[in-house]
Amino acid sequence: MSEQKRTEISTLGEFGLIEQVTKDFKLTQPSSIKGVGDDCAVIDAADQYLLLTSDLLLEGINFDLTYFPMKHLGYKTVVVGCSDIFAMNGTARQMTISIGISAKFSVEDIEEFYSGANVAATELGVDLIGGDTSSSLTGLTISISVVGSVDKDKIVYRSGAQENDLICVTGDLGAAYMGLHLLERERIALKGIDNPEPQFEGHEYILEKQLRPFPRKDVIDALALDDIKPSAMIDLSDGLASDLINLCKSSACGARVYLERIPIAKPTYDMADELNSDPVVAALNGGDDYELLFTVPLSMQEAVVKMGGIDIIGHITAESSGVELVLPDGKNVPITAMGVS
Ligand code: ADP
Ligand code: MG
Repeated sequence: MSEQKRTEISTLGEFGLIEQVTKDFKLTQPSSIKGVGDDCAVIDAADQYLLLTSDLLLEGINFDLTYFPMKHLGYKTVVVGCSDIFAMNGTARQMTISIGISAKFSVEDIEEFYSGANVAATELGVDLIGGDTSSSLTGLTISISVVGSVDKDKIVYRSGAQENDLICVTGDLGAAYMGLHLLERERIALKGIDNPEPQFEGHEYILEKQLRPFPRKDVIDALALDDIKPSAMIDLSDGLASDLINLCKSSACGARVYLERIPIAKPTYDMADELNSDPVVAALNGGDDYELLFTVPLSMQEAVVKMGGIDIIGHITAESSGVELVLPDGKNVPITAMGVS
């Protein structure tokens, strides 16, 4: 009997797997402008580009219902979907949501989920236009697809960064990850206790970043108002390390990021202190921030600083120098997808 080759998925990783299984698909339609490899697919729609993005959220993998209220989950689903549209400098227009539901869920649970999704949809101006519903054996499965649009001359890909461009991030990083750790700690501490009373006082900020993240539509609007078009952009869903590496890979460039300039909020530091963990690791490896990482030419430094709420954390370098983190003592260490090596 011939032995079948079996390769563990972990040897390729998520991005390696996607690359391997999609590499033989050719774009044959003239209207397919960008396929796999950016935050959205880009489709030519005559006077504009259409943007399309899909995300999958699985119970036990992407969320834990012991501490994630259904209403928040509905809200976050829409945020996760729309964030990719904003990362292309686009406007989110329509969405479909598909769900697989196991027998443990009631009508009221699903209503809660959709009421949260509706809050986000109203805030972001996105219409729910369809989806699919099925029963499931394994808890809750959620899939969201969002359609958006962007003027052709306004689209921003991951691939446009140039040497010496400034690397900018919105908001602060690592808070959602520390929020998740707090929720996890309380879940373990209160397991099996009737009427558990988790200790969340003083940690509202990091919990909100985890349970009710806000996608940066406001930044996209502000950039347009100030006539600033980033040279490259990606949304921070997987963590600064992984997302910066993806942007650099697409742009065939390297990056130098200064550790001291990575924006980390005080509540994130405080929680890291309490949990004996490193807030920088949270910022680099923790995902779920849904902030934006973008690059602009050096000439736009003043304009970006003027906007407020945006930090310049480093600059783009030649591909040969790699993606590096500059430590406070001036030493450089390479950034890997899992953080710093
Ligand atoms: P994001 O984090 O922005 O949602 P991902 O990291 O999930 O993006 O995906 C990276 C790229 O790979 C995207 O262009 C996405 O459309 C594509 N992709 C992901 N999974 C698949 C798949 N199973 N088949 C085809 N393309 C995929
Ligand atoms: Mg993305």
